[in-house]
Amino acid sequence: MEIKDLYREIVNEHNLHPAHRGDMEAPTLVLQGVNPSCGDDISLQLKLDENDIVTDGLFNGTGCAVSQASADMMLDLIIGKSRSEALELAEGFMGMVRSTATPEQIEALDESAALESISHMPARVKCATLGWKTMQKMLNGEAGQVSTEGE
Ligand code: ZN
Repeated sequence: MEIKDLYREIVNEHNLHPAHRGDMEAPTLVLQGVNPSCGDDISLQLKLDENDIVTDGLFNGTGCAVSQASADMMLDLIIGKSRSEALELAEGFMGMVRSTATPEQIEALDESAALESISHMPARVKCATLGWKTMQKMLNGEAGQVSTEGE
């Protein structure tokens, strides 16, 4: 299968059958992320336990297929990880879309690595990174909305 088809298939699959779409009761952290250039708007909700492990995560919102699929795949990956591991993965994802990630970083991204080809589509990069940026900001303890405006 060509990488382009794999990318399309994975994005489709996560849009048709998102595993982590919904609203959570009593999340530990909630943050909204918006990407005005495309119209993507997500609310990310995470639950962390006393050991700083992400025990559950959901997202809700509207937007293009890439933004929604990327958030769903991200949650697949970070549930069960510690705060610092999740932040490391976010760094790897940001590196991947800028073509600066190491092969180890890309491998650690598992299915999310299917979005690597997005680095050749600058208009879509903000869609793919929206969920990751929102997660980064909330796990770094920053408040306020995430917006890609002005980037
Ligand atoms: Zn988008």
